[in-house]
Amino acid sequence: MKTTELDQNPVREFDAQAASFLVRDLRRVYASGKTRDYGWRVSQLRMVEKMATDCEKEIYEALRLDLNKPEIESFVHEISLTKASCQTMLKELKHWMAPQKAKAPLTVFPASAEIVSEPLGVVLVISTWNYPLLLSLDPVIGAIAAGNAVVLKPSEVAPATSTLLARILPRYVDSSAVRVVEGSVSATSLLLDQQWDKIFYTGNATIGQIVMSAAAKHLTPVVLELGGKSPVVVDPNTNLEVTVKRIASGKWGCNNGQTCVSPDYIITTKSFAPKLIEALKQTLENFYGNDPLNSKDLSRIVNLKHYNRLTRLLDDDKVCDKIVHGGQKDEKRLSISPTILLDVPLDSLIMKEEIFGPLLPIITVDDIEESFDLISSRSKPLAAYLFTMNKKLEQEFIGTISAGGMLINDTALHLTVHSLPFGGVGGSGMGNYHGKFSFDAFSHKKAVLHRGFAGDASARYPPFTPKKKAI
Ligand code: NAD
Repeated sequence: MKTTELDQNPVREFDAQAASFLVRDLRRVYASGKTRDYGWRVSQLRMVEKMATDCEKEIYEALRLDLNKPEIESFVHEISLTKASCQTMLKELKHWMAPQKAKAPLTVFPASAEIVSEPLGVVLVISTWNYPLLLSLDPVIGAIAAGNAVVLKPSEVAPATSTLLARILPRYVDSSAVRVVEGSVSATSLLLDQQWDKIFYTGNATIGQIVMSAAAKHLTPVVLELGGKSPVVVDPNTNLEVTVKRIASGKWGCNNGQTCVSPDYIITTKSFAPKLIEALKQTLENFYGNDPLNSKDLSRIVNLKHYNRLTRLLDDDKVCDKIVHGGQKDEKRLSISPTILLDVPLDSLIMKEEIFGPLLPIITVDDIEESFDLISSRSKPLAAYLFTMNKKLEQEFIGTISAGGMLINDTALHLTVHSLPFGGVGGSGMGNYHGKFSFDAFSHKKAVLHRGFAGDASARYPPFTPKKKAI
């Protein structure tokens, strides 16, 4: 466990005292007002963007070591999105920072009202391993844009990227206000013992509860970016050729299913399922050949613990005879091939837990509308997808299903649209970010009412005579 400071400073052990000194130092820096300055924010954001460009090769290597992530995926999903996030902030920041005029009612006339966005102070970002660069930097970018001092705790499950971030970030940004703490659960726990002005956590819901109870001790607000089982409803009235490519790309083409908005399971009709499965199989062969365990275009499973978790889902007695495609595994290389299962029982493990890997069950129903009840009977997902050419069904889906976000006729792409909030609802999380929503997540909206001294009605002051009451 260590905290990385300015390059020339030695790395010191991270313990309870170091954690409390870290926050104390950051509070001092925040109190100096430097992080509030527009120029400071802009220079930091420019440097994060520059870092993502300058360190491209090192980032590819770290992501290869952590996840065997294909270079093109690393570029599109991690580097490009990080840069795009900086660019959005740089373009809009001045406008977002400006006080927003609000209406002042006649009851306070003469007056003017405005909403002032102020930074929260010193914030903590706890990140996860599946997009270890993007999911670390994207909230940090929001925190900086909003004028906060920030501590990033990257995930120990992606150690190469964690170490890389701890090494390069202080070279590019002002490390008196933006710090990285590496380490495992004990480091995170030490950080959670401190008082923060906001905690932004990405990861699973069980740890989310730990984060939220630690935050509750200080009444610290939280954003919890969690996961869940994101369903894909495939209406037979769809463009099958495009549908299967987009499902395969959002499932296996995004970190081999290890993505929070990955299609977790498909629901389609009994009569359409055979056609859908055939088309999916064909697409998988086109994408990854007939020996997918050796494909260079698929990430591996992050570690043995997650490999075992996934094989346990497949070995479950209730589902082991339901595999209709794939199922190959290689423990040495932590590799599992894209796998499709048909009509697994709803009470099987694979339909109870978030899969977060390359397994894709298909559940069949008689009528596509039955899918709505099935989805609504479960915990609210982070994403819900529908493929259809039926506009009425689309409207019913949007009106009936509750989910963090929705995408019609595609998968995963909605999280790249910075004008949309990204976050969960219910079991899939609380709060959201991206673009302006990131700025807002790390800002307090301060209500300011300006009054002059004119028009000082005596009716508001005692003594309250009957005449005053009549007014
Ligand atoms: P993880 O194991 O990396 O844990 C996340 C963080 O929690 C780490 O920094 C770790 O140090 C910390 N942590 C772990 N145990 C802890 C404990 N006992 N006390 C305090 N801190 C602790 O990540 P994970 O949970 O395996 O991540 C996968 C989950 O994250 C999935 O559910 C996925 O859907 C979700 N996810 C959500 C999003 C999103 O944006 N909504 C993005 C990616 C992943």
